[in-house]
Amino acid sequence: SDEKAAALSTTPSDSPTIFDKIISKEIPSNIVYEDEKALAFRDISPQAPTHIIIIPKVKDGLTRLSTSEERHVEILGHLLYVAKLVAKQESLDGFRIVINDGPLGCQSVYHLHVHLLGGRQMSWPPG
Ligand code: ADP
Repeated sequence: SDEKAAALSTTPSDSPTIFDKIISKEIPSNIVYEDEKALAFRDISPQAPTHIIIIPKVKDGLTRLSTSEERHVEILGHLLYVAKLVAKQESLDGFRIVINDGPLGCQSVYHLHVHLLGGRQMSWPPG
C-alpha cells in the first residue's frame, strides 16, 4: 500500500515534520479540537468515515511511542483523553485508536500521533 511504502521509505528521526506546519497553521488542516496541549485534525487520507489525528502541540522529543520517556506520561494520557472527547464530539458509537510505531508499525510521520477511526464496522486482525 502507499502507507506501507511511505513508512518504509521514511527514516525515523527527530526532525521537524509536516505536523509542525499544521500546528503553526503554515499549512491548512481541518481542525476539530484544540486545547493548550493537543491538536486534533482530520486525516488527509481517511481510512474510515471519521479519521482524526491527535498530536501533542509541543513535540518534546516525542517522535514515536517506543522512544517515549517518563516525562511524556502526562501528554500520552492526555492524547487518549482527547481521543475520547473527540469521539463524543463526532457522535461515534465505538471507535478504534491506533498508534503506529516505526517502519514495521507503518509509521510515516515522526511526531507521535494517535489515530481515531470510526463510523464503520472495524475488523480484526488489522492489516
Ligand atoms: P501512515 O502514513 O502509515 O498512516 P502514520 O501513522 O505516521 O503512518 O500516519 C500519518 C498520518 O498522517 C497518515 O494517516 C496521513 O494520511 C496523515 N497526514 C499526512 N499529512 C497530512 C496532512 N497534511 N493533513 C492531514 N493528515 C495528514
